[in-house]
Amino acid sequence: MNKAISILNKYFGYDSFRRGQEEIINTVNDKKDVLAVMPTGGGKSICYQIPALMLEGITIVISPLISLMKDQVDTLNELEIKAAYINSSLSDNEIFYILTDVKNKKTKILYIAPERLNSMSFVNLMKNLDVSMIAIDEAHCVSQWGHDFRKSYRNIPDFINIFPKRPVVACFTATATKEVRDDIVSVLELRNPKVFITGFNRENLKIKVIKGEVKKKYILDYVGKNSGQSGIVYCSTRKEVDSVYELLFGKFRTVTRYHGGLSDEERKRNQENFIYDKSNIIVATNAFGMGIDKPNVRYVIHYNMPRNIENYYQEIGRAGRDGLNSECIMLYSPRDVQIQKFLIENSTESEERKAHEYKKLRTITDFIHTDNCLRNYILDYFEEKYEGECGTCSNCSGNYEMTDRTIDAQKVLSCVYRMKRPYGINMIVDVLKGSKNQKVLGFKLNELTTYGIMKEYTKEDLKSFVNTLIAHNYLDYIDGEFPVVTGNEKSVRVLKSQEKVLFKNVKKSAPVFEHNELFDRLRNLRKQIAQAENVPGYIVF
Ligand code: ADP
Ligand code: MG
Ligand code: ZN
Repeated sequence: MNKAISILNKYFGYDSFRRGQEEIINTVNDKKDVLAVMPTGGGKSICYQIPALMLEGITIVISPLISLMKDQVDTLNELEIKAAYINSSLSDNEIFYILTDVKNKKTKILYIAPERLNSMSFVNLMKNLDVSMIAIDEAHCVSQWGHDFRKSYRNIPDFINIFPKRPVVACFTATATKEVRDDIVSVLELRNPKVFITGFNRENLKIKVIKGEVKKKYILDYVGKNSGQSGIVYCSTRKEVDSVYELLFGKFRTVTRYHGGLSDEERKRNQENFIYDKSNIIVATNAFGMGIDKPNVRYVIHYNMPRNIENYYQEIGRAGRDGLNSECIMLYSPRDVQIQKFLIENSTESEERKAHEYKKLRTITDFIHTDNCLRNYILDYFEEKYEGECGTCSNCSGNYEMTDRTIDAQKVLSCVYRMKRPYGINMIVDVLKGSKNQKVLGFKLNELTTYGIMKEYTKEDLKSFVNTLIAHNYLDYIDGEFPVVTGNEKSVRVLKSQEKVLFKNVKKSAPVFEHNELFDRLRNLRKQIAQAENVPGYIVF
């Protein structure tokens, strides 16, 4: 029997490799650098753990997940694999003993946090050891174009170069666009790396985008209907986590929460309660979840739109790791975009990175407003081919009919053309709606013949429609401090009636209420939320 598979059986107790694993393991064993992009739950860990056991010398695993190192190492030790970790949670004394074991070749796999590479004494010690492999987990953190850039990852290339005999370098991530993959290869100076992409598609995830619902009502309904199931609810700010947590906790006691504002101790406890099913719902910011291996998460709800497709994909990837069907629901309101813009604008990132973030934010806004298959959209983003429609996402499962929106589109597009210079979406919507807003009244309204021509629609509907036109390339969106939209060749074809605009009209199923009392409560809630969420005067989008 092949050695890799016998280790898989003997140590890990599995019968066969999953897609990609064996090839990756063989490549690393041949001492060729690897960059592997495998979906969350795809089984990346054994792709470096097995070669670590087969190669002479030790393997250093660089991982940003201090909280999970201990679990991983404990699991390996239980399997009788000699592994250890050092990170800031250990005392100097403990580190000393671990390093002594490493020196005496009692350790085969050593996990470290990238910050450790700042320590000269650590680096000098390693230099003189027989290090055969450096495995880099969550390798997208190396790229400033990735969604989780960590400065300390930039110490890795120098570290690789200190060894007289260069170790083989194996990098792993669940999410990396082509741009990020290229960046990883160049920053880490990988040598002729073999790149494995085992596919981003997760058939068992049912993807839904839901617009125009009262979120709090929706989530209470949803969690109520799925009580007993395990789920994650992501919010974009700590404040929002607390408020959704309180809402749910008032009704379902087995809810917990996770965000950076809680003490380390509470975070750890809440995370464990969730993993070991003491709490079945966790409300969290995106600080929660990296590297978590909980198989039975049946749904992931995005209470707010995440910042970009990579974050979104990584977060929904935490559902259905056991392969069973699971739902991924994104609840959208335009305010979500405002929150993300605010977070980007107030971050400490460089201007260049901010501009990049804005671009990605637009891409996920397009995702929300597209009419096409959502799965297809995500796979396309990661440049994976996927033919046809998935049949399970909210844009292509059953309940819709195609509607001809050509005339509406012509109204919008002619408005864009008649306004002479490019404006942002809100201004266009205001003109179409016939708003009495000062800026709009500043136009020569007798010349602006499109003023008020769509006043029968709500502002929200108009905004959503313009966004859908953008998502389908009937308008171009130009980024910047004040993003604007302009016409293009496609809009000209529509205006000349050479092209029809057909969009799906998804029929909503009527909500079912069990008690009148609940109905009243929800109606009340709806009023409150509508007031709270309808912050007037969005500047853009
Ligand atoms: P990733 O890091 O890619 O998200 P993990 O390495 O944590 O995924 O693996 C996810 C789960 O799949 C783990 O419980 C792991 O033990 C299991 N697993 C990995 N490889 C196999 C395999 N070949 N057969 C069965 N289970 C596997
Ligand atoms: Mg992992
Ligand atoms: Zn679909």
